Amino acid sequence: MRILIVEDEIKTAAYLKRGLGENGFIADVAADGTDGLHLALTQAYDLVILDAMLPGRDGWSVLQELRARQATPVLMLTARDGVVDRVRGLELGADDYLVKPFAFSELLARVRSVLRRGPMRLPDVIEVADLRIDLQRQRAERSGQRLPLTPKEFALLALLARRAGEVLSRTLIAEQVWDMNFDSDTNVVDVHIRRLRGKLDEPFAAPLLHTVRGVGYVLEARDGQ
Ligand code: CA
Repeated sequence: MRILIVEDEIKTAAYLKRGLGENGFIADVAADGTDGLHLALTQAYDLVILDAMLPGRDGWSVLQELRARQATPVLMLTARDGVVDRVRGLELGADDYLVKPFAFSELLARVRSVLRRGPMRLPDVIEVADLRIDLQRQRAERSGQRLPLTPKEFALLALLARRAGEVLSRTLIAEQVWDMNFDSDTNVVDVHIRRLRGKLDEPFAAPLLHTVRGVGYVLEARDGQ
């Protein structure tokens, strides 16, 4: 079992790493949010222990970005026992959280409990206005009408819907849907967006897929259209 510890306090990080190592876990340490996020997204971890208070990019922001991309379990460490922190952490998708200072035995119990539960289940169904996407059955419908999408069009729509309201660049879309790298020709994205639009928006009154000139695409319901 591999665990990533994102903690800027060197003593705490070393103490956690040693304790986890003594209990059979392999632990890596990142000392700030940017490194932590990078490691979490590029390496395979069974759990991320994430301190809320980090220099630069804080733990909340790391959690939010991580959750938009993957379901790796996250145990948040917070300095305050505030209801606000608890609610915020759970809303952003933390699996559990622990208030500092804590006994190592308490941390170990939480780590084991989170690992037993496994990765947080991603939602099976995403809804944006009258659009309904069933990720399990790979079906999309608008106003109850099934959209005849190809598998790539479905993958593209699912990505945009999972991150509804967020402008996604062509590069990001190309990476996530086509597994292409940064330098690839992203024209394929525009072509598929055009086809998707023909099925998703053209038959309906209110468009959901919008172009943000020079930036990318966003899926969202806009009022007054
Ligand atoms: Ca800290």
